[in-house]
Amino acid sequence: MAWRSMGTDNADLVNQLKNNGVIRTEAVARAMMATDRKYYTVRSPYIDAPQSIGHGVTISAPHMHAFALEILKDKLVPGATVLDVGSGSGYLTACFARFINAAGGGGKVVGIEHQPELVKKSKANIAMDDPNLLESGDIILVEGDGRKGCLEYAPYDAIHVGAAAPDTPVELINQLKNGGRLVVPVGPEGGSQYLEQYDKDEGGNVTNQRLMGVMYVPLTDLHRS
Ligand code: SAH
Repeated sequence: MAWRSMGTDNADLVNQLKNNGVIRTEAVARAMMATDRKYYTVRSPYIDAPQSIGHGVTISAPHMHAFALEILKDKLVPGATVLDVGSGSGYLTACFARFINAAGGGGKVVGIEHQPELVKKSKANIAMDDPNLLESGDIILVEGDGRKGCLEYAPYDAIHVGAAAPDTPVELINQLKNGGRLVVPVGPEGGSQYLEQYDKDEGGNVTNQRLMGVMYVPLTDLHRS
């Protein structure tokens, strides 16, 4: 990738993503600027690449987090309810919460992750970053199978999925509000996957847009080895 960014610190990384045209919106830049990746990965936090965070999992690359924020930004309004499926390190979950807070607040971002150790780790990461994000209830981290969404806090204005669904994720679409948007990689493990956008209009009709080819780890069943 000729445009791969390599920052000296978080601000430098975000500025490079802006200069490369990956970040196109000031509010996205501000949310990522305020969320220092060093709290979410000890390995090379300022390189635009995924990094291992243990438990067989990676924190996604900064450009993928930026894309997700750009795609969902119009739904991250004051009072919005957001679901981040496969929240892993907690980085993007924190960015969503900061974006909504900067827009006026009153929202709720739910991160659902099936690996208990990662739920613990993401809580610790966010607490290091800013404990108020958890104490305020702006972020809620839930342990569970995100393929089924999270009915407790549904419906959602925005849903992001950080791992690939094998086919159309009907249960997640069902948990979108009218006017809501889902962004999810869809396709087989190691095969051709596409980042898909599903929009539910005010009448409840769903339309789908294929955004780009991607490579994600699959959503898995924790209890099947
Ligand atoms: N977006 C996160 C993590 C991306 S990796 C980040 O950038 O840090 C994908 C994550 O999805 C992993 O943490 C993995 O444990 C989780 N995952 C995979 N299948 C899942 C499932 N069925 N339910 C919930 N989380 C799942």
